[in-house]
Amino acid sequence: MPPLPLASLGLSEQTPLSPNDSNATSNATLNPIPDSPQTGIFANITSNPLFSAGFGLLGVGAGLSLLKKGTNAAASYTRRRLLVTLEIPSKDKSYAWFLQWMAQQAPKRQVQHLAVETSFKQHDNGSVTTKFGLVPGPGNHYFKWKGIWMKVERQRDGKMMDLSTGSPWETITVTTLSRDRGVFTHLLEEAQSMALKKQEGKTVIYTSYGPEWRPFGMPRRRRLLDSVILDNGITERIVKDVRAFIGSGKWYNERGIPYRRGYLLHGPPGSGKSSFIQALAGELEYNICILNLSERGLTDDRLNHLLSNVPERSIMLLEDIDAAFTKRSQSDNQGYQSMITFSGLLNALDGVASAEERIIFLTTNHLDKLDPALIRPGRVDLKEYLGNATPHQLRGMFLRFYGDRPDLADAFVARLDGKTVSTASLQGHFVYYKDDPLEAIEKADELLRQ
Ligand code: ADP
Repeated sequence: MPPLPLASLGLSEQTPLSPNDSNATSNATLNPIPDSPQTGIFANITSNPLFSAGFGLLGVGAGLSLLKKGTNAAASYTRRRLLVTLEIPSKDKSYAWFLQWMAQQAPKRQVQHLAVETSFKQHDNGSVTTKFGLVPGPGNHYFKWKGIWMKVERQRDGKMMDLSTGSPWETITVTTLSRDRGVFTHLLEEAQSMALKKQEGKTVIYTSYGPEWRPFGMPRRRRLLDSVILDNGITERIVKDVRAFIGSGKWYNERGIPYRRGYLLHGPPGSGKSSFIQALAGELEYNICILNLSERGLTDDRLNHLLSNVPERSIMLLEDIDAAFTKRSQSDNQGYQSMITFSGLLNALDGVASAEERIIFLTTNHLDKLDPALIRPGRVDLKEYLGNATPHQLRGMFLRFYGDRPDLADAFVARLDGKTVSTASLQGHFVYYKDDPLEAIEKADELLRQ
């Protein structure tokens, strides 16, 4: 390859080009640049049309880059002065509300990129309805609300994970003109009230998901309190006690007592323990947080965290508490899947740190298997036995199914009086003979064979 004509690059042949030569700069012999632009090499360059075109382009380039910088600066200034943004991280409660709200607001044609959120609901008869909710997918969306334009950016972070749930971290950023900043408050309020309206008249069941509570399925229609027939006076006693407890936070605080109340429902399976708690929650317009103590991976810390962070207006329900612990001596390591210790449970129940209202229901089929420390006053303040059907319950359930037929109800009670029948199987019997009370009486013996 022929040597490059160094002169044409403006460098003399002696110019040391090696970057390794430490004296490169000082030793460099540059061609002298004459003082006057009219003489020497400068004159040559300016008279050379190729060079002047090059300089011209250089100037235009520099001008453009300056312009670009200026435009960027102006844009960011404008953004700062004229636009406001609202950031909603996926951890925040309003995140789900906002997505639902947007799914309703933005007409489908404006939102090009949709994501599906499938929810299904199991009805009492076992059938399942599936609903596909379309929410705006990740990306940018523009829409107008109350005459105000907004940009909504849903961003999914590819690297960051919500470690507690394993779902990708997401953020929604809403941008609008700063003079309209008040719109954000209205927007969030509307999103919240829309979400709460969906729950109105319903009971939300929460279950634990990692260290946090998540709604389990769709909110359920409230169960009516009088649909659960307990023996004489039990319902009234519990409802009166809970109502007296709710709203007496000041009394507890003033006396330095943790604001909590524990209830224990014990009795054979199918006596209506869970159903009653659900109906009670409906009556009080509370939600329910259900925790299974035998759950795999449950630790003392998680239990404590869950019990200290119960969503507001919720009843905490620890079902079949005997399944997790029978006697204190067995609580350590004998094959239980969960890793909670008995003392961890007691600590969590006592909730020393909590000043918030806490209503805890424990249920068990075997009261005798429970450690007395677990159910001492202060941890369990009210104990009720829900047993097999008493004559009062036989009668009450019959009337509830077949309407105002006291004579038939008495006949039914007479057939079964003194026999052991669970209220759950009674319900099954009435459902089976739902159109024929006489047959229900006649075939009452079938209940004894179950
Ligand atoms: P438990 O929690 O005591 O095992 P559940 O509440 O799960 O019992 O009851 C099982 C089924 O039996 C439910 O469908 C419920 O409606 C019905 N049931 C049980 N006891 C009663 C009752 N006392 N009154 C009305 N229904 C009852």
